[in-house]
Amino acid sequence: MRTGGCLCGACKYEIDGDPVAVAHCHCIDCQKLTGAGHATGAMFAEDRIRLSGPSTSYSMPAESGNKVTRVFCSTCGSPLFGRNSGMPGYMTVSLGTLDSSDDLTPQVVLFARSRRPWDIMDEALPTYATQPDWKPSRAD
Ligand SMILES: [Zn+2]
Ligand SMILES: [Zn+2]
Repeated sequence: MRTGGCLCGACKYEIDGDPVAVAHCHCIDCQKLTGAGHATGAMFAEDRIRLSGPSTSYSMPAESGNKVTRVFCSTCGSPLFGRNSGMPGYMTVSLGTLDSSDDLTPQVVLFARSRRPWDIMDEALPTYATQPDWKPSRAD
């Protein structure tokens, strides 16, 4: 079981099992979300994640037309999860909010077209200008 939480400690979560994908995303929305050059997230089946604590969410349309919902700690604002209506049943967990993520390796770079020149990435990773035509599938 994996555990994680926000900056102030009010929100805690537990996750069973392994992610179906781990990705860096350089889209403009992720830059705004994180205040950094990219977001790094691990996608899990939503029913594997249990959150406790005061969270709040914000939804907006993505460029694809899908609705994207971001879940934050309502006390400290740490971005915890993201949800995309195009991938029902899955949530992306902000990798930095996991208590331990050293065993996870990003597999792909998304939205490289909006990567900032100062945000240097591993060139060995498969890189997409936007995102590949991909749907998660459960390993279990
Ligand atoms: Zn917090
Ligand atoms: Zn993004």
